[in-house]
Amino acid sequence: MYKGIGASAGIGIGSVIIVKEPSLDYEKKPVTDTAAETARFQSALDECVAKTTAMAEDMKTRVGEKEAEILEGHILLLMDPELTGQIESKIKDEKSCAEAAVEETCDFYAAMFASLDDELFQQRATDVCDIKTRLIKILLGVEDVDLANVPEGTILVAEDLTPSMTAGINPANVVGILTEIGGKTSHSAILARALEIPAVLSIEGIVSKLENGQSVVLDGKTGEVYADPDADVLEEYKAKRAAFLEAKAALKLFVGKPTETADGVKVQLCANIGKAEDATKVIECDGEGIGLFRTEFLFMDRPQVPTEDEQFEAYKKVAQLLEGKPVIIRTLDIGGDKEIPYLGLGKEENPFLGFRAVRLCLQRPDLYRPQLRALLRASAFGDIMIMVPMICCVDEFRQVKALITELMADLDANGIPYNKDIKVGIMVETPAASVMADVFAKEVDFFSIGTNDLTGYTMAADRGNPDVAYLYSTYDPAVLRSIRNVITAANDAGILVGMCGEAAADPLLTPLLISFGLEEFSVSATSILKTRKGISSWTKAEADEVAAKAMAMATEKEIRAYLESIAR
Ligand code: PEP
Ligand code: MG
Repeated sequence: MYKGIGASAGIGIGSVIIVKEPSLDYEKKPVTDTAAETARFQSALDECVAKTTAMAEDMKTRVGEKEAEILEGHILLLMDPELTGQIESKIKDEKSCAEAAVEETCDFYAAMFASLDDELFQQRATDVCDIKTRLIKILLGVEDVDLANVPEGTILVAEDLTPSMTAGINPANVVGILTEIGGKTSHSAILARALEIPAVLSIEGIVSKLENGQSVVLDGKTGEVYADPDADVLEEYKAKRAAFLEAKAALKLFVGKPTETADGVKVQLCANIGKAEDATKVIECDGEGIGLFRTEFLFMDRPQVPTEDEQFEAYKKVAQLLEGKPVIIRTLDIGGDKEIPYLGLGKEENPFLGFRAVRLCLQRPDLYRPQLRALLRASAFGDIMIMVPMICCVDEFRQVKALITELMADLDANGIPYNKDIKVGIMVETPAASVMADVFAKEVDFFSIGTNDLTGYTMAADRGNPDVAYLYSTYDPAVLRSIRNVITAANDAGILVGMCGEAAADPLLTPLLISFGLEEFSVSATSILKTRKGISSWTKAEADEVAAKAMAMATEKEIRAYLESIAR
């Protein structure tokens, strides 16, 4: 058995085709006619841009807009004047042949990106290598590997599958992908998931361990791969595949259905996003709104604060994509484990108990005012609600409200439209806010329970510390009582109460949340249908019975064991 990273769920059963890139050797000799060599490079560049544009178009129609963006990123790189300028200077000044100029320049940028300790830049390094290979292939007149016409039941095995190779795959024929490099978030993994092809990545030396035509089974979730499976393993994987496909088909039945319990109690099922573009996926997965837009991601992966206009465009885009469905946008939640280097915030002894989220925003109107103003302006384009994170006391919320009122007056004075009835709510993720939920419920328009932080703060346990990890559990009766208290307070006051922490997608907790009276569940886009199915499997009366039993228990262990024993 080989083991790698399960990067795209599903079971693949088929025969190996090893994908080997053709040799890209060339003779490195100085050129005499640099003008002709520059023209040769230019023509290869034009051809590469044209091919990539065609691939991106094809990807957009066959797979999706989000996946096509990866190739559109390649086009931007190909047209980057800094990159092409450097290649042309190498040809002109150093008399390099076009192949060497492309190789050396791209290697320089790839090494620079790869040296930065950031997943996004690591990916950029792979992208640069991908366009390098394609440019050199065009210069040498080498044909691309044709993955569109492999036989049915093929398992592709390669050192790496670049986005341009993956783009050519026909998912009707390819039943699995195995590679030596890449991880869950690499572009090849994203594309494999979009094409719904099971994939296991990062299996050491797999290209030399397998042969063309060899029989292989793989599990794209666990990362397990068997070559030449015996009859028992083959039967086991056939059964696994049937179960996987059945579960997938069963989930599809929930597309377009209301989210309700078996006896018709309706709740709202929204999704969490980190970037405006993620909203497309939410719509594809039939989400009923956005329950949490983590805006801090707009501030990361860049050298400076996004302007009010840039933020306005991002918020407006989500509001428009959601066409009037609710969009809860959380104001900047940095500090703790979310760092933004250019803000120069300095190290703290206890970052999770320190200067983070609303605490920081209230001290930094230069950051907060443009964000709130952008949110208000975007509220003219959809049902945007503003959510304030890490609230501990009523004073903090009142200060935010005062700032919003001031900004509204300014927008009025300038004749800029916004939703005058915009709802402003809070994340309940600190024990202080939970204990005071009945008081907060009179002040705020809605609650969203952030169980990720609420669990940590309630149990005073850092999730990252293995010595205290046993305490970090949402099944702990203390955390469950806290959640119930918040929901009851909201229900009593008649304000909306949702949950956007991970617990909202935990099927073991579904009956408890239904029984407590949770009105909105906000989960990752990929969990939407599973959560809808989970909710539909309980009646309110059954959920109440489960809740009554669980809430009478004294320990996390008992509750967890009980919930596992009755899981649906
Ligand atoms: C939470 O704390 O539950 C939450 C949703 O916020 P984040 O995970 O972004 O801290
Ligand atoms: Mg939080």
